[in-house]
Amino acid sequence: MTALASIRNLTVTYRRDGAEVATLKNVGFDITAGERFAIIGESGSGKSTLALAIAGLLPATARIEGRIDWLLRQPASLRDHAPIGGRDVGFIFQDPSASLDPVMPIGMQIAEVAYTHLGLGWSQSYARAKTLLERVRLPDPDAALRAYPHKLSGGQKQRVAIAAAIAAGPKLLIADEATSALDIVQAEIVGLIRRLVSEDGMTLLFVSHDIALAAELAERIAVFRHGELLELGSTAQIVSAPRHAYTRALLDANLGLDAEPLLQRT
Ligand code: ADP
Ligand code: MG
Repeated sequence: MTALASIRNLTVTYRRDGAEVATLKNVGFDITAGERFAIIGESGSGKSTLALAIAGLLPATARIEGRIDWLLRQPASLRDHAPIGGRDVGFIFQDPSASLDPVMPIGMQIAEVAYTHLGLGWSQSYARAKTLLERVRLPDPDAALRAYPHKLSGGQKQRVAIAAAIAAGPKLLIADEATSALDIVQAEIVGLIRRLVSEDGMTLLFVSHDIALAAELAERIAVFRHGELLELGSTAQIVSAPRHAYTRALLDANLGLDAEPLLQRT
């Protein structure tokens, strides 16, 4: 198995109220090329910090130690997202409104990603934006190209944000609580991510506080608590034979009953 990214001894520290607080503590694991990998844990366990670190998007206030080795291109530093952000790594955030520009038509926002990263001309980039809106199943893609984000529902905005995230053909797609704010359309967006990852042969890093949701999508799951990697295993192993009491507690809280129906869906 080839590692798309090897994370080694990764420690991330934020300065807060004059004190240094380690948010990720000596984390190490590999993400295999082509797999669907989930990071789970409660709010505050460091999941977003890890996802941002992998994407090279951590703020300047974060102190980063350790290394991430990439199969493809090695960025100049762990804060240098220019070589990977957008081009090799697509990032879907929880709140699509925050990742879309309110004053730019949707088609231009998606086309800009392709234009910037793929070296296509503008009309080709715009044609690609239309194709992407079709692929994320936005109703009436022609009208949507010219629409502003506020015209769309939350679920439709997330579809647009996903189109932008994959516009440059990234190898790795990171979804950080990408469906958590969406209530009724959560299952549709999960299905969409699954289909796009499969169609484009992307590697998926699915970040969620919801172990049941993670188990639906991922082949392997890593459980985090207080910035530490508690355990990592196949979805079947984590769900049916967790090694850690904490994982068992997450399962009980998340699933209520037994894990059988969950495993049948994976
Ligand atoms: P999760 O995504 O699992 O909820 P986060 O990575 O967002 O966890 O946060 C982990 C811890 O790091 C939290 O205690 C949070 O307050 C802190 N933290 C996250 N981002 C920052 C930041 N930019 N500055 C200071 N502290 C931060
Ligand atoms: Mg988070």
